[in-house]
Amino acid sequence: MNSQEIIENYPKYIMNTYGRQSLVLSHGKGTKVWDLEGNEYLDLFAGIAVNNIGHCHPKLVEAISKQSEKMIHCSNVYYTEEQLILAELLSKISPYNKVFYQNSGAEANEGAIKLARKYTKKSEIISAKESFHGRTIATVTATGQPKYSKDYKPLPKGFIHVKYGDSKAIEEAITDNTAAVLLEPIQGEGGVNVPPENYLKEVEAICKEKNVLLILDEVQTGFGRCGTMFASEIFEVTPDITTIAKGIAGGFPMGAILAKDDVASGFVPGDHGSTFGGNPLACVAAIASINAIIDENLIENSKTLGEYFKQKLLELKNQYEFIKDVRGCGLMIGMELSFNGADIVNKARERGFLINSTADTVLRFVPPLIITKKEIDTFISCLNQIFKEIN
Ligand SMILES: *Cc1c(COP(=O)(O)O)cnc(C)c1O
Repeated sequence: MNSQEIIENYPKYIMNTYGRQSLVLSHGKGTKVWDLEGNEYLDLFAGIAVNNIGHCHPKLVEAISKQSEKMIHCSNVYYTEEQLILAELLSKISPYNKVFYQNSGAEANEGAIKLARKYTKKSEIISAKESFHGRTIATVTATGQPKYSKDYKPLPKGFIHVKYGDSKAIEEAITDNTAAVLLEPIQGEGGVNVPPENYLKEVEAICKEKNVLLILDEVQTGFGRCGTMFASEIFEVTPDITTIAKGIAGGFPMGAILAKDDVASGFVPGDHGSTFGGNPLACVAAIASINAIIDENLIENSKTLGEYFKQKLLELKNQYEFIKDVRGCGLMIGMELSFNGADIVNKARERGFLINSTADTVLRFVPPLIITKKEIDTFISCLNQIFKEIN
């Protein structure tokens, strides 16, 4: 089949839930991907901040290949060495000693909500407007954007949304029945919204004082994305629970809940489970991916090239009045326009660059962390050209 045939036949068999771009991708290597007709693209989207170590990293390919010959799945009725090795690695790179393995970001958040309710014996979850926490019934309810939940009523009770970046609003929303505050350290899907510098520290203090758990959803911001292993490091907070997914296993589906020992003890045998969670193939993929992030200094690259990228985008902002803002940390950068970004995304793709637009007007750049200065330069000159033409 060629690209056109595939695109035409999709609706016959596949539910029509995504606003897909007209592009059929075939394979990838490093920062590049190719379509079926062999056209090359520089990937500044990385499968929504997932391919942090680039496409088909040799160490990741080797780990998955080897494990696939050994054992692909093993239920949680038994122990595996792979789960333990990954758990030890996660405890080395984070402040936590306890993990629960899931398969996606939504599942990790769903599990974190269960853990918070079980541990505190309270029910309310406070989250932020414009947030995104996933697509299950509970996580669309936690998500502070009504468009994701309005058609799925009745929604579970106990979810409250307050303004993002305003710690007072959280303080005022806390009641005797509040189990946890659930926040993204930087909102991704909501428009790459970076909170005021002291926000999370203030929220952490409020939560401590009021005996409420703090859950950070680092599904998008984790694994070097923001120039640190986790974005909580930027804001110098240690949440009671952190949820992770996207970049954890280099593209292999996986999610996890990390929790402080005491909070983790809220779960006892029978309380929570997953058939695939901690699957050995996912575990070796995560081990290889995290080791590549460490061994290849990708956190440093995310930080320095993120700064460089942001600087170049700010230079464009000085030239074009329709650029409202440039913001982000590391290689998670947003450029807010005064109009819908979809047209720019299409124009960039036609010239061989994959980017994304979110919250209607925000161009989101989340490239693999292995991106080079030269690649950023070629993209900036393409973006400049597009802006020149529409100006
Ligand atoms: C993508 C995302 C999720 C949902 O993850 P899935 O793997 O799609 O379920 C949750 N929270 C944040 C912050 C995300 O970016």
